[in-house]
Amino acid sequence: MSYPRVALIGLGLIASSMFWAMRRAGMQSHVTGYARSAETRDTARRIGLCDTVCDSVEEAVKDADLVVLAVPVGAMGAIAKTIAPFLKPGCTVTDVGSVKASVIEAVAPHLPEGVDFVPAHPMAGTEHSGPESGFSSLFDNRWCLIVPHGAREEATATLESFWQALGANTERMEVSHHDLVCAVVSHVPHLIAYTMVGVADDLRRVSDQEVIKFSAAGFRDFTRIAASDPTMWRDVFLTNKDAALEVLGRFTEELFALQRAIRTGDGDTLFDYFTHTRSIRRGILEAGQDTDAPDFGRIKKDD
Ligand code: NAP
Repeated sequence: MSYPRVALIGLGLIASSMFWAMRRAGMQSHVTGYARSAETRDTARRIGLCDTVCDSVEEAVKDADLVVLAVPVGAMGAIAKTIAPFLKPGCTVTDVGSVKASVIEAVAPHLPEGVDFVPAHPMAGTEHSGPESGFSSLFDNRWCLIVPHGAREEATATLESFWQALGANTERMEVSHHDLVCAVVSHVPHLIAYTMVGVADDLRRVSDQEVIKFSAAGFRDFTRIAASDPTMWRDVFLTNKDAALEVLGRFTEELFALQRAIRTGDGDTLFDYFTHTRSIRRGILEAGQDTDAPDFGRIKKDD
């Protein structure tokens, strides 16, 4: 099932990947797009991203059956307020934000009666951003978490089918559980990567050249993650504060325990800990969420 008319609001990595994945899936939907800057809109027109790129957000959404908010989490509320009077009765509004409680709080109050709001979060990304960074296979075999939040069952099920057609697996999740799960598997790991790259930069005794020259997989992967969009990640931590702080608290406790084990020469603790974490990695491979390839299965553009 696809929507006759889809509006993509924000034309970055996620929205552009959605567009190419819709085309790959053979969806006939007419897709309108809007981005706040003329530069992004011009780029979108040049590369054929969307059937129509609109110069106003109101124009982009006015006949849409599905409106996708694909902007940073902190920008969603203002956009919802602007578009609300122009939404077609009976349409579905969704978002792709990495945080759900704050997005629901910011968006839902603006939406008129008769419009279904079905928040969603595709758990897929790269460190690249902007309209030219998208590719059709981004969502293949990745999870898209759906947080129904009082929408009609039919609207929720249709959005699930849509995401499945884009290549994703879907699962429904309750709002606060979503935000905690994402703090564990995505948000805090990103913060740790940002921190580790910052620490390496601070250690002036290790020269920049050495950091670049000798960075093997571990640090190299940190630098890749730490190159992610600063606006997006600032918004994630500002809006998922409680879950992020809870997970960071647990992380700090474990880090201190390992620090003590190193200081006291407690090899058994280190060995047991690393044995346990290795088994978690195996579980991720078995679940098909990564590959065992030497390059850690980095996502490659295939189109
Ligand atoms: P992106 O590539 O940086 O693109 C963001 C888009 O939003 C751009 O078109 C930008 O317009 C527009 N925008 C930025 N700030 C805005 C504002 N204040 N008002 C209106 N429009 C604004 O971002 P993305 O990676 O696609 O992320 C979009 C959403 O997906 C975010 O909510 C993020 O949390 C979520 N998400 C991201 C990932 C990931 O790994 N990247 C994964 C899952 C979910 P201009 O180009 O004109 O500035």
